[in-house]
Amino acid sequence: MSIDENNSVFEKIKNDNHEQLVFCNDDSIGLKAIIGIHNTVLGPAIGGTRMWNYNSDAAALKDVINLSKAMSYKSSLAGLNAGGGKAVIIGDPKIKSEKFIKRFGDFINDLNGKYWTAQDVNMSTQDIIWIKEKSKFVVGLPKEHGGLGDSSSPTAFGVYMGIKSAVNHISGRDSLEGKKVLVQGVGNVGRKLVDHLLKENANVAICDINQKNIDLMSDKNITVVNPENIYDNFYDIISPCALGGIINNNSLKDIKCDIIAGAANNQLENDTDVPEELNIKKILYVPDFLINAGGIISVYHEQINDIDFKKVMEMTGLIYDKVSSVIKHSDENKISTNSSAIQIAKDRIKENSKK
Ligand code: NAD
Repeated sequence: MSIDENNSVFEKIKNDNHEQLVFCNDDSIGLKAIIGIHNTVLGPAIGGTRMWNYNSDAAALKDVINLSKAMSYKSSLAGLNAGGGKAVIIGDPKIKSEKFIKRFGDFINDLNGKYWTAQDVNMSTQDIIWIKEKSKFVVGLPKEHGGLGDSSSPTAFGVYMGIKSAVNHISGRDSLEGKKVLVQGVGNVGRKLVDHLLKENANVAICDINQKNIDLMSDKNITVVNPENIYDNFYDIISPCALGGIINNNSLKDIKCDIIAGAANNQLENDTDVPEELNIKKILYVPDFLINAGGIISVYHEQINDIDFKKVMEMTGLIYDKVSSVIKHSDENKISTNSSAIQIAKDRIKENSKK
């Protein structure tokens, strides 16, 4: 990224209405990070830190801008008094060390609670514990460190509830019995989602590039699909629980399903022609930042010091009604479910900014 008289960075953060970007640098240990604080109207910005070997600093900047904005929408839709933030550390995760992570913890601490971090891609539970030694502004801690532990259970439960709500919209009942469901990615969230689906006698297929994770499910009544043939068959529901960007103009040529609803963040390659194409194909898309809020609901409860897993699951269950509301809003306003979810999230932030 070049910084020139066109002020391109400022233009970008003005477009997305970002409050603050913080560039962190400690050359002595090779630490380069950007903390993105999108919005704090509803409460402190909460969102994980990811470490990635980005091709360029500009790519990292773009990522942190998009991710922190999505966190604002996610927290707003989930009804949390939390804003949106995210941090990216630029570099090969192999360079991480205790000293490196603790130095990053200092940068988090400098923000004095305006941004709370948590675990994301390439950050381990140990990293989170090290950050905690430097700053109290970190959530997603293991139970033995006073947190609520792994958030994949609430995330999977929220996705399951969101799927039922979408099925109810299409068929008038929310039973998943006999429904053909493809779960793409059976990691922490995908595996737990499969268990919910099997309890309802859904007809489950799974697909993963990691054979070890497939092997973990060998005792279950499921079909395994080869990643190369992933979109060969029709499914009632496709649930992306692996990576972002998988719904794009290319994959949409092959995807055959009624509903797309899964945990992966940033599933749509863009917010413009991809939602349009989904509409044309009459695929009901449940926005990721609406359906995968179980994790943020869990860490939010840590942030407000309410360590109560039952409450987390109760609040996550409300995703069923929230998905119904977004679908209704999208039908009434003749806009995509993605645009509806963004609008509802923005409206809540706007209402609160007047207070
Ligand atoms: P994970 O790393 O445990 O699992 C991801 C799985 O996807 C792995 O088994 C991996 O092998 C598989 N995978 C990767 N690329 C694939 C491909 N091209 N085709 C098929 N499988 C592929 O991650 P997770 O914690 O289960 O999270 C899953 C997704 O949900 C991620 O996108 C994550 O960002 C998102 N998410 C997770 C949480 C949470 O609480 N864990 C919360 C919100 C969103």
